[in-house]
Amino acid sequence: MKHAFVTGGAGFLGSHLCDLLLKNGFRVTAMDNLLTGNTDNIAHHAGNPNFKFVRYDVTNDLYIDDQVDVVFHFASPASPVDYQQYPIETLKVGSIGTHKALGLARAHGATFLLASTSEVYGDPLIHPQNESYWGNVNPIGPRGVYDEAKRFAEALTMAYHNTHGLDTRIVRIFNTYGPRMRLHDGRVVPEMIYQALTNQPLTVFGDGSQTRSFCFVEDEVKGILKLYESGCNDPVNIGNPHEMTILQFAEIIRKLIDTRSEIVFRPLPVDDPTKRQPDISKARELLDWEPRVPLEEGLSKTIAYFQSTLKPTAVAAY
Ligand code: UDP
Repeated sequence: MKHAFVTGGAGFLGSHLCDLLLKNGFRVTAMDNLLTGNTDNIAHHAGNPNFKFVRYDVTNDLYIDDQVDVVFHFASPASPVDYQQYPIETLKVGSIGTHKALGLARAHGATFLLASTSEVYGDPLIHPQNESYWGNVNPIGPRGVYDEAKRFAEALTMAYHNTHGLDTRIVRIFNTYGPRMRLHDGRVVPEMIYQALTNQPLTVFGDGSQTRSFCFVEDEVKGILKLYESGCNDPVNIGNPHEMTILQFAEIIRKLIDTRSEIVFRPLPVDDPTKRQPDISKARELLDWEPRVPLEEGLSKTIAYFQSTLKPTAVAAY
């Protein structure tokens, strides 16, 4: 049995990746410092002899006695609200944390897969974004802590590959949504679902003309596993090219949820990218992967999840 080590394993994406790895016959160790992760996301694996959880911060030294075959480095705050609340932690996990996770992979002769992001493209000047685009990032803006940490993490990963011959992968993840997102992580999907379920106004930032392309989490992690299996060392975009404006997205939420919520407009956050859409030609060609879950189907599953977690006390506390 292959042993996968997943940093950020109790987070939204990390926990879904653990599920898929276990389903595919891996033994899994999930590590998380629980800054934004939550053990509720992995509670269903309690008692599974092939699953282990370790609470630990990946920016500390890492020594594992057990054999490790692959390190998936998914630890990091990922919502703009979170990484602006934890700017130094975000920079540290992307830099020092990536260094430690790479060192762990090297010590074990394991493959290393970095969870990178569409944010490396910043506010993109080409559209859609393909992997050869270098990006347009403000290093000292509020999003710079995340964007530059991930850009550094990519550079360090390639350096380990080129210098030490480490077998590495880099996935550039575009906006991903699904069950286990935190209700108040500030991202548009959980935020608007929460607002609609509680009949509060849907907050559209700016005039809502900025675009995003949303990928359901099950599609996303399947693409990531295929990338691991592919042997491709260069960065690969994994996301859903179905692009829409945020205003259109708000209307979809109002259609899917029986709500009295109106749409209200709020100031656009600094450096908010005006458009984002993955070019997934490379993933299609190299991995024979493309997303399958239509937005309304994925959103319905996500809404059902939030409905089940929305207890009266949680609403009162908000
Ligand atoms: N957004 C919005 N209302 C909200 C939260 C976010 O209009 O309550 C916008 C945000 O300004 C951005 C888009 O939705 O243009 C996606 O934001 P999110 O935080 O989900 O992710 P991002 O793609 O910016 O990292």
